[in-house]
Amino acid sequence: MGSLSNSEPFAKFATTAIHTGSHRDLEGYGAVIAPITISSTYVQSAPGEFQYEYSRLDNPSRKALEETLAALENGKYAATFGSGLAAVSQITQLVKAGDEVICASDCYGGTNDFFRNRAVNNGLKVTLVDCTDVDKVAAALTENTRLVWLESPANPTIKITDIKAVSDLVHAYNKDILVAVDNTFMSSYFQRPLDLGADISHQSLTKYMNGHCDVVMGAAVVNDEKLYEKLFYLQRANGAVPSPIDCFLVSRGLKTLHLRMREHMTNGLIVAKFLESHPCVEKVLHPGLPSHPQYELVKKQARGTSGMLCFYVKGGLQEAKSFLKNLKLIVLAVSLGGPESLVAHPATMTHKHTPKENRLAVGITDNLIRLSVGLETVEDLTADLDQALRTAVAV
Ligand SMILES: *Cc1c(COP(=O)(O)O)cnc(C)c1O
Repeated sequence: MGSLSNSEPFAKFATTAIHTGSHRDLEGYGAVIAPITISSTYVQSAPGEFQYEYSRLDNPSRKALEETLAALENGKYAATFGSGLAAVSQITQLVKAGDEVICASDCYGGTNDFFRNRAVNNGLKVTLVDCTDVDKVAAALTENTRLVWLESPANPTIKITDIKAVSDLVHAYNKDILVAVDNTFMSSYFQRPLDLGADISHQSLTKYMNGHCDVVMGAAVVNDEKLYEKLFYLQRANGAVPSPIDCFLVSRGLKTLHLRMREHMTNGLIVAKFLESHPCVEKVLHPGLPSHPQYELVKKQARGTSGMLCFYVKGGLQEAKSFLKNLKLIVLAVSLGGPESLVAHPATMTHKHTPKENRLAVGITDNLIRLSVGLETVEDLTADLDQALRTAVAV
């Protein structure tokens, strides 16, 4: 296994995941697991006297989850939203009409679509920049820049941005510019953007953090109290909040995040090496393979790699489609980070709304396959990939 596997996890990660934010009900029945508080409203002992008032404004199950999330990112505060994209849109409300946003050109299709089509309607000027090149970020900064949106590793191209270098550069230019990093592909177990100098660590909790393909939710984690107060206000005022039951499910998922991520990493590396040596595969993109152009950077800023990888099947659209149709175990579906391996065809699925020239410019060609390597017995995964590749591609 690569030297990445020797990276130490963040100190006390597992203990934090299991104990922080677990609001034990010591006064009621003594429940070890905090109850799920589904009540929409709360009794006031006198007008205006209460701990909780109304569940859009705040809710104990949400609060407990947010405490865990903040601790796992080594941040002070977290705010959760109804989806990862809701978190993107609420973070974007921290800046105002006339401000400029730099968004990484390689990013999640929904984020790309949001910045290009929604944010501009709100009067923001959005520039798409290849943020893997620090000089290009430097060239794109202006006196009106207020938000820089990064994603590393990028979906689906697995390109890596030097989070510390970009954060330092942006803050040296103007300390008031917010640097936000989408940490979804790594999860809090492998990467902590706030430690690397970012102002906001964003995640789609739908993916690795909940980890069971049964919740849609997003979060923003910050250190700055004033920034948190603004996010807390946006949660309350715009109301894009998650349900208490979903909060409970993510809290439960987080207790095994460390175990799941280690196994995603092990399976991911085995599958990546298998594909790299396969005659039907042109090229593999996995941040833990020495062949990845930013392998050294990954080792510097992350504690390991998840189960996310991409590869180019030999041939074109026809071979890619035939490969996908012939898979028997690996599930053809969007999303990622669950126990079951999921495979997607970015050109026709996750990035179908991204203009073709933008897509091709970042390497999303018709033969690109994205794979979320799950937690199954790894030999079953390589066997399924092998039979589907050999059926689809003539070698
Ligand atoms: C899924 C995803 C999102 C959007 O999150 P939702 O929970 O689907 O709204 C954002 N960024 C990345 C990298 C994602 O994978």
